[in-house]
Amino acid sequence: VALIVQKFGGTSVADVGRIRHVARRVVATVQQGHRVAVVVSAMAGETDALVALAKDAGGERPDPREYDVLVATGEQKTIALLAMAIHRLGHKARSFTGAQMGMRTDASHTRARIQHIDRARIEAVLDAGAVAVLAGFQGIDDAGDVTTLGRGGSDTSAVAIAAALEADVCEIYTDVNGVYTTDPNMVPAARKLARISFEEMLEMASLGAKVLQIRSVKLAQQYGVSLHVRSTFEEGEGTWVTREEDVMEHLVVSGVTYQRNEAKIRVAGVKDQPGISARLFTPLSDAGIVVDMIVQNASQDGSTDITFTVPRTDHKRALEMAARVGREIGAQSAEGDEKIAKVSIVGLGMKDHAGVASKMFRTLADEGINIQMISTSEIKISVVIEEKYTELAVRALHTAFVENGAAEPKAE
Ligand code: ASP
Ligand code: MG
Repeated sequence: VALIVQKFGGTSVADVGRIRHVARRVVATVQQGHRVAVVVSAMAGETDALVALAKDAGGERPDPREYDVLVATGEQKTIALLAMAIHRLGHKARSFTGAQMGMRTDASHTRARIQHIDRARIEAVLDAGAVAVLAGFQGIDDAGDVTTLGRGGSDTSAVAIAAALEADVCEIYTDVNGVYTTDPNMVPAARKLARISFEEMLEMASLGAKVLQIRSVKLAQQYGVSLHVRSTFEEGEGTWVTREEDVMEHLVVSGVTYQRNEAKIRVAGVKDQPGISARLFTPLSDAGIVVDMIVQNASQDGSTDITFTVPRTDHKRALEMAARVGREIGAQSAEGDEKIAKVSIVGLGMKDHAGVASKMFRTLADEGINIQMISTSEIKISVVIEEKYTELAVRALHTAFVENGAAEPKAE
């Protein structure tokens, strides 16, 4: 007998027909003899509709306490409907809101952090042979007020519940059947990964974020909760996201990712002396702008260039700041470029393989793609290129590293 937490997202419970389908899947697991706790999101589109209502009534920034009271109702509907659908199949089920299950959070409305879960309450239901049907996304603070965890927070609820119950697995049911080596819409040869480590999943954020809230992956890593991402609508295994030790075969490259949501800023001709970078980046961080890659050239004649990337939505603001500070520190110019993309390769096997970076650069060069910036971590290499080459770069790298992976350089 295993203890299984199953999480179903909004598209999986989009209407009553789908809720009844989910009920059949849950019951099938119960009939295999397992103990099952189910975590559900609101019906697809429901949270968006509630947020729109909140703005309609309360303006652009509605009161956060009341906002949480409102948006938490989306999940309250689905838990009741799913419990009813399970009853109709002749099985026991009880629904619980965040407050009822003792999902304690801090008091930061709209982005609350989980502090504690009353595991006894859920266990009593399972001990009675019933399915516990639990609302994702919501909790209760010490004052007894309803809180929510932030958009996409049901994944995090499910992982936290799996950790508290010491569940054998946290199954994430969604509308795709797993995590792919790259975006299948861009590269038809993309294939589903059987297993991937937490670390790789976090580095593959731009792929993973569509499937799993990144915060939930961090929580799963912290508590060692194995995740199984799989389809609600198809049978068969999906992708396991697990500890590095449990990934048998360390692929050199397990994923090729891309992001087109950054912009580049270059501050040219700045003096190469202590304190310049601090002056440049302090105003940005004070403004809450997250800088991703930073490259400083080797200096010539005591002057250098600093280039960095920021989210595209912050580009205008960041460029204005860089231009202002640039003038103060005597830089020649500050210029921005929004037409860039970041393309990355990710894989645990990079740790002990030589020549991965050079192969990546060679592959891009063969396609005539110029590399503007490079950054690396232990298991990831990212480059910034001109945006119009994104697809070409992703396809070429996927062919070189994933499809023709057998031709990898040997470990030293
Ligand atoms: N219903 C919430 C949202 O749409 C939480 C979730 O689905 O994970 O953000
Ligand atoms: Mg989701």
